[in-house]
Amino acid sequence: MIVARSKVELRDALGPSHTDQRVIGLVPTMGYLHDGHLSLLRAAAERCDVVVLSLFVNPAQFRPDEDLDSYPRDEARDLELAEDAGVDVVYAPPVEDVYPEGFATTVEVGGQLTDVLCGAPDSRGPGHFRGVTTVVAKLFNAVEPDIAFFGQKDAQQAVVIRRMARDLDFPVEIAVLPTVREPDGLAMSSRNAYLDPEQRERALALSRALRAAENVAGSGETRTEPALDAARAELGRAGIEPEYLEALDAETLTPAASLNGRPVLIAVAAQVGPARLIDNTIIGG
Ligand code: AMP
Repeated sequence: MIVARSKVELRDALGPSHTDQRVIGLVPTMGYLHDGHLSLLRAAAERCDVVVLSLFVNPAQFRPDEDLDSYPRDEARDLELAEDAGVDVVYAPPVEDVYPEGFATTVEVGGQLTDVLCGAPDSRGPGHFRGVTTVVAKLFNAVEPDIAFFGQKDAQQAVVIRRMARDLDFPVEIAVLPTVREPDGLAMSSRNAYLDPEQRERALALSRALRAAENVAGSGETRTEPALDAARAELGRAGIEPEYLEALDAETLTPAASLNGRPVLIAVAAQVGPARLIDNTIIGG
């Protein structure tokens, strides 16, 4: 396994693979790997000849008041897990390699997809997805992957990246894999490391809330509001006031009042102790 610390090293590492037209898979992450990340690496290893993992805590997608400095990091462990998962090349650059002095260009998917949920002004704001799409566009240019793998856990991110790839003609397939959960339902997240046992117990309310919404939908209800009410009640029992809890069309991210027909994304974000957690489910379609 090659560990590249710069774009130059990365290009050198991948040169022969490009020449030989091998199928290259990219798994972008912020590190502190868990089974959710590993499921993406496994999928990449199955479908690709060469697997590239990026480990980069991207400052551009954090608000000034967010947890950039305290974001969990353990590169030595990540590299061991990556090697075990069959990763061929790790790109783990310092910030200066990604954003050198004078960096001034951003990539932004405009409109509805980035205005809602995590992109809303009272959530992480429009800068969040600008930071995500800018760094992912740079990774696509540096790696030139055939397939890039993302998790459904960050449903809005996957929709936004798919749109960016389409709009900017990146010749890459965007593969989105299911959310990996702990046995008790908690969606795996690097930020779960912030939770003490009591907070972790309360955090279970997010996945329970989504199950409650699914149950309402499964009982034949055709409106989203009763499903959201059931989810809100579940959160309330744990004393959690969500940052958002919404039902949106899973592709356009426009509000969805009805559960008839197209897939509906039910997405939730909430602060639980020190951790801002997100989770979602897709109903129907
Ligand atoms: P992160 O390191 O949190 O930026 O995540 C890197 C990639 O892993 C993103 O595509 C996430 O959607 C994905 N991911 C994070 N958590 C999970 C999970 N529990 N299940 C599946 N994919 C995940």
